Amino acid sequence: MRKNVNLYVVGCGDAFGSGGQFQSCFLINDAHGAMAVDFGATSLVALRAAGLDPQMIDHIVLTHFHGDHIGGLPFFLLDREYSARVCTPLRILGPRGLSERLQSLMECMFPGAWKENWRFPLELIEIEPDLPLQIGERRILSKKVQHPTGPYDATALRIETCDRVIAFSGDTGWVDGLYEISAGSDLFICECFDIEEQPYEGHLSLPVLLSKLPDVHSQRILLNHLGPEMLSNRSTIPYEQLSDGATYSI
Ligand SMILES: [Zn+2]
Ligand SMILES: [Zn+2]
Repeated sequence: MRKNVNLYVVGCGDAFGSGGQFQSCFLINDAHGAMAVDFGATSLVALRAAGLDPQMIDHIVLTHFHGDHIGGLPFFLLDREYSARVCTPLRILGPRGLSERLQSLMECMFPGAWKENWRFPLELIEIEPDLPLQIGERRILSKKVQHPTGPYDATALRIETCDRVIAFSGDTGWVDGLYEISAGSDLFICECFDIEEQPYEGHLSLPVLLSKLPDVHSQRILLNHLGPEMLSNRSTIPYEQLSDGATYSI
């Protein structure tokens, strides 16, 4: 019998708190544990507001190194170190440069707080784009996308677990790699920041998605990371949109 996989939307907002939504964080609960995708600055608060224990998380996978996707990690690590009752192992996975970025972030927010030896086993794993990575029973594929992150990769993610596939575009302008990342997926979480096409690159807009999504083969497409104009026009948008606190059982 296939075991359920649940996706809980901890936060699906943009970097600016538009619509009062929490920053990016998704929780995949499956037979193997709890994996978070992204951990924005507000994610620890969002988990506690939902009555969830943050320390049940055993893996955190990051799409890219922007603050609305990683800014909550110092809070999370310090909570696990000093408040949590559990010492279960934690793996954090992300683009190349993960270890250096995470330590800089911690140094900025809590000088001197980074530890070589945490109370819990901590493993940092840098993901090579286009190289499928087997992590326990789960399989992760990342692909480079188009989003300004300095010398570091911004990535889309495809996570396969318990015969289910959940795909994340991450923050990005359109790249054809999103077809591969989302092919045959049960859920495709696709960013759509703008309601109108913009002169800048690095985020998706509704007109671009209207032309691309018909060729995406996913059971269910959910728009994510909605900016203020998208939020003001939710009822006119012909695709499902995420909200904080939603749960999807697949
Ligand atoms: Zn970003
Ligand atoms: Zn973002």
